[in-house]
Amino acid sequence: MKKEKILIVDDSEMNRSILTDMLCDGYDIVEAEDGLQAVATMQKMRAQLSLVLLDIVMPHMDGFGVLETMRANHWIDDVPVIIISAENSSTQVERAYELGAVDFIARPFDTLIVQRRVINTLLLYAKQKQLIGMVEEQIYEKEKNNDLMIDILSHIVEFRNGESGLHILHVRTLTDLLLGYILKKTDKYNITSDDISVISTASALHDIGKIAISESILNKPGRLTPEEFAEMKKHSAIGAEMLENLPGYKDEKLVRVAYEICRWHHERWDGRGYPDGLSGDEIPISAQIVALADVYDALTSVRVYKPALSHEKAVEMITGGECGSFNPLLLDCLREYSTQIRTALESSSIADAKDRKLQSITTETMKRVGGSASERTLRLLDKERVRNSFYAAITEVIQFEYTPYPPMIALSEFGAKKLGLQENIVDPAHDQGLARLLGEGGWEYLEERFRETTPESPQVRVDRVLSYNGASRWHRIVAQTLWTTDDVPRCEGALGIVMDIHDAHLKMEELSQKAARDSLTGLLNRGSAREQIELRMADDPQGHFALAEIDIDDFKKVNDQLGHMFGDRVLRELAQRMKHSVRSSDICCRAGGEEFFLFLDYNDQIESTVDRIYKNLCFEIDGRSITISMGVALSVTEGAFYDRLYRAADAALYAAKQGGKHQYRFYDESAMRDTLQGARRAHPDVMPEEDKPQK
Ligand code: GH3
Ligand code: MG
Ligand code: MG
Repeated sequence: MKKEKILIVDDSEMNRSILTDMLCDGYDIVEAEDGLQAVATMQKMRAQLSLVLLDIVMPHMDGFGVLETMRANHWIDDVPVIIISAENSSTQVERAYELGAVDFIARPFDTLIVQRRVINTLLLYAKQKQLIGMVEEQIYEKEKNNDLMIDILSHIVEFRNGESGLHILHVRTLTDLLLGYILKKTDKYNITSDDISVISTASALHDIGKIAISESILNKPGRLTPEEFAEMKKHSAIGAEMLENLPGYKDEKLVRVAYEICRWHHERWDGRGYPDGLSGDEIPISAQIVALADVYDALTSVRVYKPALSHEKAVEMITGGECGSFNPLLLDCLREYSTQIRTALESSSIADAKDRKLQSITTETMKRVGGSASERTLRLLDKERVRNSFYAAITEVIQFEYTPYPPMIALSEFGAKKLGLQENIVDPAHDQGLARLLGEGGWEYLEERFRETTPESPQVRVDRVLSYNGASRWHRIVAQTLWTTDDVPRCEGALGIVMDIHDAHLKMEELSQKAARDSLTGLLNRGSAREQIELRMADDPQGHFALAEIDIDDFKKVNDQLGHMFGDRVLRELAQRMKHSVRSSDICCRAGGEEFFLFLDYNDQIESTVDRIYKNLCFEIDGRSITISMGVALSVTEGAFYDRLYRAADAALYAAKQGGKHQYRFYDESAMRDTLQGARRAHPDVMPEEDKPQK
């Protein structure tokens, strides 16, 4: 008997594949990737079709477009259509029915209800067994983007490291390759194909501990001092500790493997690595491989302090023992498969990585799809599964997904609850809860940031005050826009997470303990001062803060006339005086050269406080009198924004210098307008008022 034909229209290959698996026993399946393809298919073989399963949100022509076309041509009278879509607002459902759909299955969904409806609706078309698969399909749809979530997480580290964005991808690719090669050489490591996907996924997290390392050390262009290097080395133990402290997920395989990799990816075969000085196969093979991949990529990438080396040179240096000692078996792999490795890495781009196929087939996956899955589905599922288990381990993160068409933000359940939102799926332009959360113009601002991205640079990082549960606090939104792979890529939306900067900083405090300081004066350097200032303002966004920027007058002359040693003494003396002029909870910083910052909170009488401080900072040393100029900005006028305060203080300092030095000025918009005009010309860093970030 001839089988009935079903057309499956969905832009996700995963969705089509699973639906096909479910139905292919009883039916002939035809697939279409978007609305236009669907219509073309119907034109050709409409008479043979028994049913259409139709997604709504698709490129080129969406599900409604397909329904409209079917209606205009009266095809809908012969071919029943079931809508399967994430879109579930009542107007959309109504519209689908109006256009002639026989049923509408919405996701995300209440499993039981949908199961019931799927059964009722599809009894005519499908077997019981296949229906269970339908539910599975929808669960996977919901979670299909974990790959990107890991990308985002590792990007957070990359942002701070100033890495190219390809580092993590390369380490992952190389880890994957080396695992495959070593498997060919020996069976002593008991690596299953399942382990390969877990280890290469976990490799993306090898440097997460760097989140706790001060930016000034991470991004220092020159050689690190021994102290700085010691600080940097802590990242492996810190990363491991972060994973160890994931509540309740210690036993997740991916988390366990990531722990090994984080902690031991700087160990060396001869025992001369850190942090534990393990040697030989005491070091887990996962960490051995990531270590090698990490070193290889460092050699072949450009860094601030060195050019990129060629593949050949890197292999020569590693196998020649110039980068520490590695497992001889791994070095053999590197030598033997050198050509393959070079080719694979050359062609590995972010886009490839997303659909790089993992071959391994696991029993768990078999169970999930009831043994009826095709090779293709299993391959796709396997990739998801590894990511899901990691993703599950970080559920306590505010995750969101944004689609521009239809405009929708879907938050993780945890995220919506945490942010005090009633709904976890909202229309960003009209939802009042979201408007309250983001503040006036907040959504438009974010949308603008999304719009500025490109497929080459899809990351967005925005710091904003979010208000919920009766408090306003600084948060960091890190997101990545998603693009189609068409000739002219189209933005399909974005995935992201929201972090409470306050928490993040507290965690950093606790982990890194002491911040980076200037070696001459012992004051905080610019980077750590900024971190601490942001932390303080995040803690109390309504607080009264003052930021003073201080610059020694004619310091060049002091140096020229009395020598650098004397100049250094002046700097130290000023630093001492700064510390003694304010409370220990205030923040003193040497921003560079003879420029200093002071950040303090106050209750009232800031004028007299500033006056007292200023007088303390002009002094006499060995008969030479030293004066300073100072610009002060206040959060009551500028808001609790570091950048604004800084620019305002800078403009005020400029005005003080212009006014003849040896004086201080408060930043006052109207009084300074004229000076500011001049300042803007001479000093492009001074921002005009209208360019400042909005509140
Ligand atoms: P102005 O009043 O306009 O600020 O003039 P200035 O001479 O103070 O400023 P300028 O920026 O022209 O010169 C700053 C000098 O500070 C030049 C540099 O040699 C000196 N300097 C920067 N860092 C150090 C340091 O660590 N030790 C010493 N001794 N001098 C330093
Ligand atoms: Mg490292
Ligand atoms: Mg000066």
